Amino acid sequence: MNVILLGPPGSGKGTQAKRFEQSCGIRHLATGDMLRAVASSSSEFGRRVKEIMDSGQLVPDAIIIDMIAARIAEPDCRDGFILDGFPRTVPQAQALDDMLAQRRLGIDHVILIEVNDAALIDRLSGRFSCAKCGASYHERYNRPRVEGVCDICGSREFVHRPDDRPEAVRARFEVYRRQTEPILPYYRARSLLRVIDGMAGIDNVTTEIAAILGVDAPHA
Ligand code: AMP
Repeated sequence: MNVILLGPPGSGKGTQAKRFEQSCGIRHLATGDMLRAVASSSSEFGRRVKEIMDSGQLVPDAIIIDMIAARIAEPDCRDGFILDGFPRTVPQAQALDDMLAQRRLGIDHVILIEVNDAALIDRLSGRFSCAKCGASYHERYNRPRVEGVCDICGSREFVHRPDDRPEAVRARFEVYRRQTEPILPYYRARSLLRVIDGMAGIDNVTTEIAAILGVDAPHA
């Protein structure tokens, strides 16, 4: 099963995709995570990618398309994948169709998680994660069970994403409206797009996604 999760920054795509990766055995492919790995290298290319990401703009289509094409060809994607953060432009959506067609594959579901802007800003501004294992937290809504200690790996080091700064968040919203929203008609025209209410709470969103995919809802 091949799934695309769409939605603005902070809509919860990553949180949901992780839940379904564990329960359905399909790979969670997050282009933001792939690019953060590139950006953490000390190469000139890594430095350029980091600069683009920190500003809230998109990396060039050609780079991300090659990255995804290589990734979905790997054996662990054989049973399917959930794309989180890709496609983000119409050319990326077209390139995805081409690369899947070459492998005689297609997209089964495209799910848009809708959340209003005020809630998105609130979510992004309090977001932080474990520096070691990447587990996500929120200053107001989802603090570690023991203050200052990661629930998952016990690390005491946490990081805020540089692109969660207010200026970068503004740029990311603008980029989403201008470059990513135009892909919605692309999938709507093929009757693939389903829209769910991302304000409904994490577990309710999971239940709705599970119903669309036709699987049991994974537990948190
Ligand atoms: P995310 O973690 O999905 O919010 O992505 C973080 C940043 O990575 C974005 O703001 C972009 O700079 C970059 N990025 C992630 N996915 C893509 C993509 N599909 N196309 C271009 N840039 C991307």
